[in-house]
Amino acid sequence: MENGHNLSKSAVIENIPLACSDELAAVEFLEKQRWGSTPACVKCGSVEVYKMKDAKTGERNSRYLWRCRDCKEQYTVRIGTVYEESRIELRHWCYAFWRACTSKKGVAALEIKRHCQISYKSALFLMNRIRFAMAPDPDAPKLKGVIECDETYIGPRKPRYKGTSKHGRGTSKTPVFVAVERQGQLCRRVIADVTANTLQGAIREEVDRRSRIITDEHRGYLGLENKFYKHETVSHGTYEFVRRDVHTNTAESTHALVKRGIVGIYHNVSREYLHRYLWQFDFMWNTRKMNDGERTVLAMKAAEGKRLMYQEPTQSL
Ligand SMILES: [Zn+2]
Repeated sequence: MENGHNLSKSAVIENIPLACSDELAAVEFLEKQRWGSTPACVKCGSVEVYKMKDAKTGERNSRYLWRCRDCKEQYTVRIGTVYEESRIELRHWCYAFWRACTSKKGVAALEIKRHCQISYKSALFLMNRIRFAMAPDPDAPKLKGVIECDETYIGPRKPRYKGTSKHGRGTSKTPVFVAVERQGQLCRRVIADVTANTLQGAIREEVDRRSRIITDEHRGYLGLENKFYKHETVSHGTYEFVRRDVHTNTAESTHALVKRGIVGIYHNVSREYLHRYLWQFDFMWNTRKMNDGERTVLAMKAAEGKRLMYQEPTQSL
């Protein structure tokens, strides 16, 4: 046992609902996730540490402080994590993580506000940090194997200019690209446009060159086969949706899931913030084979590691 990764699955699932309702349980849950059975000082790394007690009651200190016998520093489990930046109770963090990691279509900040009885601003703060924790790892390996690529438009239907088409292309909807491994992981991103330059640039960045790529007949994908990829297309225009295994059904179903979530839970999202919501949907897709407890713990761990990278000037609590 060297750290919290060793918690058994059943322990994780039993502890999360309790951690969502009781602050001491939340603190101890996060301590266990972070340190496992050997708590260490966050300042010097010493394991000569102890939980501080309240002198009157003999119970745990009301701020859940630890103290290090070596460097004499006091600290809590919040130090050095995403939780350090807010005073929101840890049980609310646990609840928001749990809900975000167990709801396929996502969870609205308004719902977190109501359930935790915190301000809307606090609920938004929680959800933005959680979505950031779910953002893809920039060092993740490229997708490989059989890859379906597809582009779609997400967002409000209202056209930006009069005279343009009311649906899809030519409106104020935001173009989004996805590359998805059959049975595997996906990468999705907001793109500037659906030109060959943009689409194929995204493919080069996300997909290993030895892959077999399947797309529809959108002109943006023409010529991919000259760039080391094996490329096959399915022609939707002639009602040829599935030719043997040449189809883009997986890519289309992931887009459909995102669209239902964006409209149903978030009631549309502006172009500026759309990528954050995509992080959440894609995290759920990429961890779909995990159980709810494992997925929640994974997101919590990711939040710790990403704390310092978060830049959002308009947010402060
Ligand atoms: Zn120390």
